[in-house]
Amino acid sequence: MTSANFIPSTKPLPFELHPSSIQGTGAFAIRRIRKGTRIIEYLGERITQDEADVRYDDEGMGRHHTFLFNLDKRTVLDAGTIHNEARYINHSCAPNCQALIDKGHIYIYALTSIEPGEELVYDYGYERTPDMGPDAEALYVCRCGAPNCRGTILAPEKKAPARKKAASKSKAASKTQSKAVSKSKSRSKKDAGVKKAAGKKKSASGAGKAQKRAKSPSRKRAG
Ligand SMILES: [Zn+2]
Repeated sequence: MTSANFIPSTKPLPFELHPSSIQGTGAFAIRRIRKGTRIIEYLGERITQDEADVRYDDEGMGRHHTFLFNLDKRTVLDAGTIHNEARYINHSCAPNCQALIDKGHIYIYALTSIEPGEELVYDYGYERTPDMGPDAEALYVCRCGAPNCRGTILAPEKKAPARKKAASKSKAASKTQSKAVSKSKSRSKKDAGVKKAAGKKKSASGAGKAQKRAKSPSRKRAG
């Protein structure tokens, strides 16, 4: 947090940062946060998809640890450099927050009412590519401790038809999703990974659900 790339929020936040039992530093509510509250924007450096590949093209990463978010077909938010407090919000398989894309920005919203002292968590739901197997699940291991923990921060496996590329063009797709689909057309090398991002459901608020961008060996192998 002492990095020159840390841009603290100018508004008072309803949470503070301190060590988390889930991982590293976490964000903990310091007052009651009502369901639906927009808590904070997820800041990151806006880079291209290709730049993201260059930066994190590392199969030796061990436990997965990047801060990439798919924003649209061209753009990835990298909070590994420029970031704010939102970067410290951990993943959980039992989330009380969610990340949504709204007009080119990613915000963290309260999914439920959150009590003081509760850790803020959302489901990272990393894009899952068709060829991801046990190796990928190990790379994206989850130790959130929730009773329903699925063991990985990868998005849950979808039913077979939903994972096909045709399904990503379903009418449920939001504008955000449509962009993600066109990205998959223009970038055959990363095709498989990009399709995943298109399978998201539109949220009740109308904003597109944001999905963390996978950085995995399978992305490199795709195509
Ligand atoms: Zn979990």
